[in-house]
Amino acid sequence: MIEPSSQLIVVGAGAAGLYTALSAARRGARVTLVSAMPLAGASSYWAQGGLAAAIGPDDSPDQHLADTLAVGRDAVRESAARVLVDEAANAVADLAALGVSFDADADGQPALALEGGHGRRRIVHAGGAATGRRIIRQLSAEAVNDPRIEVLEDRRVTALLPHEGRCIGVRLADGETLTAAATVLATGGAAALWTRTTNPPGATGGGLLLAYAAGAALADLELLQFHPTALVASDGVDGLLVTEAVRGEGAILVDAAGERFVDELAPRDHVARAVHEAMARTDAASVGLDMRRVDPALFPNVVTALRRAGIDPERELVPVAPAAHYMMGGVATDLDARTTLAGLYAVGECSCTGLHGANRLASNSLTECFVFGARAARAALTEPAPPAVASKPSAVAAASSTTSEASPAPTRPPALTTASREALWRDAGLVRDGPGLTRLLSDPHPLVRLIAAAALARSESRGAHQRRDFPEVNPAFDHRHVTLTRDRPAAVEAWR
Ligand SMILES: Cc1cc2nc3c(=O)[nH]c(=O)nc-3n(C[C@H](O)[C@H](O)[C@H](O)COP(=O)(O)OP(=O)(O)OC[C@H]3O[C@@H](n4cnc5c(N)ncnc54)[C@H](O)[C@@H]3O)c2cc1C
Repeated sequence: MIEPSSQLIVVGAGAAGLYTALSAARRGARVTLVSAMPLAGASSYWAQGGLAAAIGPDDSPDQHLADTLAVGRDAVRESAARVLVDEAANAVADLAALGVSFDADADGQPALALEGGHGRRRIVHAGGAATGRRIIRQLSAEAVNDPRIEVLEDRRVTALLPHEGRCIGVRLADGETLTAAATVLATGGAAALWTRTTNPPGATGGGLLLAYAAGAALADLELLQFHPTALVASDGVDGLLVTEAVRGEGAILVDAAGERFVDELAPRDHVARAVHEAMARTDAASVGLDMRRVDPALFPNVVTALRRAGIDPERELVPVAPAAHYMMGGVATDLDARTTLAGLYAVGECSCTGLHGANRLASNSLTECFVFGARAARAALTEPAPPAVASKPSAVAAASSTTSEASPAPTRPPALTTASREALWRDAGLVRDGPGLTRLLSDPHPLVRLIAAAALARSESRGAHQRRDFPEVNPAFDHRHVTLTRDRPAAVEAWR
């Protein structure tokens, strides 16, 4: 018989997983935190800009909401965005209470940065552009020192355990089974599926496949944000992100002729497309980011990283081009991070609350990890204890949600190949069309096929999803989400 290992299993130790685990532990729960990779394998570690929260004297949650809705291109689930903007300030205060030291101005007030699409300065950061690193270090130290949290490092979850219509735990790569009242996926995004990416190599959407195989719905996989300013350089540093905050401090973009071609602080989908078009127009592999007027002391990490890559941003233009950056889709959830499979929750970039719509507002994603992480912990701790069930470790291929035995859902995807990554970049890049997406339906990698199916179902252009064959917004898709589940074709749904 399998006995419950803890009250809560959290899969992933980025910002979302660490904060969910700590939130549950502070409520007295016993938590098992499983992480496949060392800390730097989490996207959270690399986050540069910071977290968006309406805490400035000239700001309000309503204004933050208005910006989120406007940038999201009529696809934002307003109820989720409302939760985010209302609870963001508490999340910042709680992180500070946990020991994260946010940057302050000369008067000791939070130093607030400006990023594209924000009508106010509202990005809090730590150590300039080292925000992710600082937060992850602090939260990891807290988690390791909390006796209620058991940390399993370098352990990969390879399957969820569906049992009588609910998720009762996980199976690890070494065959060990863990059960709990609730399981929270915090496995991060999928932008590293594309060849040109700002993400660390592990961000390939493994958690999405775990959830899908167990029977949970995925949503909006076609909505992948491309960041406009990723370094163009040799392998190893190609794709290095140059944070939007540098444009907030005056950096400009110029084309091959040295001309400005876009409002640098317009929303990301607009700037990324303008860069893409400027490159096509001039047959260039990059555009220039001119940071020469920006105070380098504001972005020491960015300046150091660029110098290491052989570019001196104080003297020369930085060659940049778009790269796959953020998966707005993910495992479909409600406002408490519940997925469509009972007992299974999803938070952070692997989730899709609908709050980012078709174009994430910069720096809303880290905030989302904390706001919805706290909600996930609260809701998950009300789940009933899992039944003690018979173990059937060899049943990897025979998933069943109706028998009395816990059988892991089959999930082992084939290894991700360079060919699949290049195919995604070519056929599901900044501009897509029906024939290219249809080609992807026969790709060996299951997540590539699911992304293609979702992109084909959204027969319009909106935000980050631009189709050559459907160049206009189709109002029939306003506030609609493309969902995919194992047992039916893609559906288009309205969420409250
Ligand atoms: C370069 C860069 C800069 C960014 N800057 C900002 C910013 O300034 N502001 C902002 O809001 N957002 C930013 N983002 C986006 C933001 O960082 C991410 O959306 C967010 O950090 C995601 O956090 P997460 O906890 O959901 O996932 P991650 O931080 O990616 O963590 C995922 C975790 O899951 C683990 N994992 C995955 N699969 C398994 C498995 N099968 N078994 C066990 N463990 C598993 C991984 O090891 C990892 O620990 C940036 C992203 C990048 C790449």
